[in-house]
Amino acid sequence: MPKKRSQPANEDSLIQLLKYRYPSKSPQLKKGIGDDAAVVRPTGADEFWLITSDMLVESIDFRREWTTPRQLGRKSISVNLSDLAAMGARPRFFTVSLAISPDIPERWILDFHDGLAEKGNALGAHLIGGDLSRAERHIVVSITAFGESLNGKVLYRSGGKAGDLLYVTGSLGRSAAGLKLLQDPGIKSRVRLRKEALKAHLDPEPRCAAGLWLAQSGLVSCMMDLSDGLSMDLPRLCAASGVGAEIRAQSLPIFQPCALWNCDPVDLALHGGEDHELLFAVPRSRNRQLEDKYPARFPRITRIGELIPGKGKVWLAGQRPEERHWLLPQLGWDHFKSVP
Ligand SMILES: [Mg+2]
Repeated sequence: MPKKRSQPANEDSLIQLLKYRYPSKSPQLKKGIGDDAAVVRPTGADEFWLITSDMLVESIDFRREWTTPRQLGRKSISVNLSDLAAMGARPRFFTVSLAISPDIPERWILDFHDGLAEKGNALGAHLIGGDLSRAERHIVVSITAFGESLNGKVLYRSGGKAGDLLYVTGSLGRSAAGLKLLQDPGIKSRVRLRKEALKAHLDPEPRCAAGLWLAQSGLVSCMMDLSDGLSMDLPRLCAASGVGAEIRAQSLPIFQPCALWNCDPVDLALHGGEDHELLFAVPRSRNRQLEDKYPARFPRITRIGELIPGKGKVWLAGQRPEERHWLLPQLGWDHFKSVP
């Protein structure tokens, strides 16, 4: 039984506590608390419905002065759709609840919703309702997104086996590099690279099409999206699958340009967070088939390591022989540990 605490130690332990306190045994529920989205099958339905919620709080998850309202709207729906992509679902609908301080003009509210609707529609999700309220100082955005499976195929965090090969889509650390540029306006950078990093941070692209393809391929054993950094999220995938993992620093698809911005690209790839890329595993017998069939029009995939026997522990093999097999510290984002 979990110990009583006055303060939650971290986000994961709080989620475990809530999962323990509120078990659900509904026959329509396929997966409850603990994955990227809940999975339900309404009575008589052929497909599963996937439901996910994500909140953005001003000064914790974003700064008003760094983003336009339209960008904030786009990002708010994108981070939710990333959780649907993580399970291979097709985005369908979403609701938005918004609390705003008295100094926010109507124009801001409309621009925010334009961003939401524009990005949601582009990916197949339509705004169907929500709520508006007042907050004393900070803006709070909470979205609930609904997705639908295709051919009943859903990928969970829990299907990985020791020996499976680990992959990620896209590159890691770009969003954190963008945040670094916002935090330190004195950093000199080339316009194209600055744009790329800022776009990754302020207007990320959820991997919906790649996620759907990976789920339909039948070649993937488990999947999640990377929102809190590889060092935080990979142990979650491992814990759900009852395995450990070993990743290689030199295999990570890092965002190299940030080396010139007082950043360590490997550090940002491991711990930066908000990448919204997909992390997935493929049985060793099927990885050639996956690499051959994976469509070139999707963000590239990179093999970063493998699942090994273990209980949620992640090992990092470094670039030099003496760096082999460090236990990877969990330095990514945790709402109950991190200082914004
Ligand atoms: Mg997620």
